Amino acid sequence: MLLINGIKLRPDESEDKLKILIEKKLRHPIRSFRIHKKSLDARKEPVYIYAVIVEIENEDRYLNKDISKYKEEDFSVPDIRPDKTVVIAGYGPSGIFAAYRLNEAGFKVIVLEKGKRISERVKDVERFFKEGILDESSNIQFGEGGAGTFSDAKLTTRIKDKYIDYILNVFVENGAKDSIRYENHAHIGTDQIRNVISSITDRLILKGVEFHFNEDLKDICLDENRRLYAVKTAAGTYNCDYFLLGTGHSAYDVVKILKNNDVYLEKKDIAIGFRVEHPQSFIDQRQTKGIIDAANEYFLRYKGEKGVYSFCMCPGGIVVPAMSERNTIVTNGMSYSDRSSGIANSAILIQIYKEEFEDGYEYLHDIESKAYAYSSSYKALSQNISDFMNNELNPLKTDSTYPLGTVLYNFNDLFTKHDNQIIKDALRDFDRKIPGFIDKGIMIGPETRSSCPIRIKRDEHYQSINTPNLYPIGEGAGYGGGIMSCALDGIRVANEIIFNYGKV
Ligand SMILES: Cc1cc2nc3c(=O)[nH]c(=O)nc-3n(C[C@H](O)[C@H](O)[C@H](O)COP(=O)(O)OP(=O)(O)OC[C@H]3O[C@@H](n4cnc5c(N)ncnc54)[C@H](O)[C@@H]3O)c2cc1C
Repeated sequence: MLLINGIKLRPDESEDKLKILIEKKLRHPIRSFRIHKKSLDARKEPVYIYAVIVEIENEDRYLNKDISKYKEEDFSVPDIRPDKTVVIAGYGPSGIFAAYRLNEAGFKVIVLEKGKRISERVKDVERFFKEGILDESSNIQFGEGGAGTFSDAKLTTRIKDKYIDYILNVFVENGAKDSIRYENHAHIGTDQIRNVISSITDRLILKGVEFHFNEDLKDICLDENRRLYAVKTAAGTYNCDYFLLGTGHSAYDVVKILKNNDVYLEKKDIAIGFRVEHPQSFIDQRQTKGIIDAANEYFLRYKGEKGVYSFCMCPGGIVVPAMSERNTIVTNGMSYSDRSSGIANSAILIQIYKEEFEDGYEYLHDIESKAYAYSSSYKALSQNISDFMNNELNPLKTDSTYPLGTVLYNFNDLFTKHDNQIIKDALRDFDRKIPGFIDKGIMIGPETRSSCPIRIKRDEHYQSINTPNLYPIGEGAGYGGGIMSCALDGIRVANEIIFNYGKV
């Protein structure tokens, strides 16, 4: 097989043209091809750049700087079929893919998940959006699929790892569109990822994975050498040969369990901020002069005394209430597959160094409950960006998409004076890069759950450094941030167990 890079199409050209362009490059007819990567270069006149895979005889005669040999990755597992039980707490991306991989290798897998299955969870989330009644076990953070289920489901990561293709293949086999395998900045949207996750769960059930929804981890059992041998829920005790903990960054109760059992935790830097919303047409115009009418994204980064950056942008999305605890406010972003709300949102976050707080969870909780106390409801805090810059409060220039409504608030009161200055410098910088960013935008917040304030430190075999057989995975363990990186972490730990089975 050959990998052919550098094939270009203008946005107005059809992909039907690709075959002719490939044949031109090869100077040879082809029967078929598949797209390997597709990315947009919008630096000058926007153009899509493709890499494609072609099967052809006498490959060597075609090799040049754009054409190389291509070999499919091998994702097979050794045929060990061990008589061992793995318990996984938390069924977000890290837990899902750890379960998937360990099941492939023949381990007995038991999943304990605090929340409900997606069909029930959707009802709870929709009720919260409409009536403001929050279920602390079934919400945007908790339930089948984890935190990314009500999201834009962007499938991007800066990590380079062959298992990215493994994850995307699993998504596609379970109903995601094929283009996620090759599109740069691919996303599925909340409507589709819900179906994909449900399908993965159904498949795992058929393959023998045992699921316990509505059942949260209550304690861990350690022997005299601190080795974890069982875990407890309200329904009973589960003995385990391996225990994977993937309960996410919002599981404050799990952190308490770990602290009570002296599991080694370390503090980590975090980031806090707010969402900004702009008309999508304004972002499209600024990013690609409106030539590409698909919802355009932006990535903004300011390097001042502290980093300020855009994060988790949701083109054509909505800002959502992402709290899991009563009497707190947390924002985040979500979109449907068609990204058609007409509004672009993105978090704007400032780095908070671990030296700036004693206990990261308390620090974040204080901000979230301060916001609720000000609002006296689940209405989010809001301000025009221009008013934040001038320390003023005026009615919002545009309505927010946040479903529970907003109250006007001066975000200058949320951050320290020092951080306000840095955020304002950053916003001025963003306004230079996207002229009108300040004037056209509104702020909704606070956004506090972009990163986990602790790391459950692991050794070289991915076990807690002072609690053998506790394998922390994903974002809550401090080893991932985002759907792909957490899924990869679940696979990394599962592979460690699979490929070292019988050796360690
Ligand atoms: C609204 C929103 C939008 C997002 N959008 C994107 C996006 O577009 N792209 C992207 O890459 N990332 C996105 N993220 C981030 C991404 O979802 C997370 O980084 C990722 O889900 C973390 O995976 P995880 O497996 O570590 O944990 P989580 O997904 O947080 O899953 C943890 C699971 O553990 C369960 N749990 C908690 N406590 C217990 C307990 N005591 N016992 C048993 N189970 C428990 C929870 O119910 C949950 O299902 C978004 C997050 C949110 C909230």
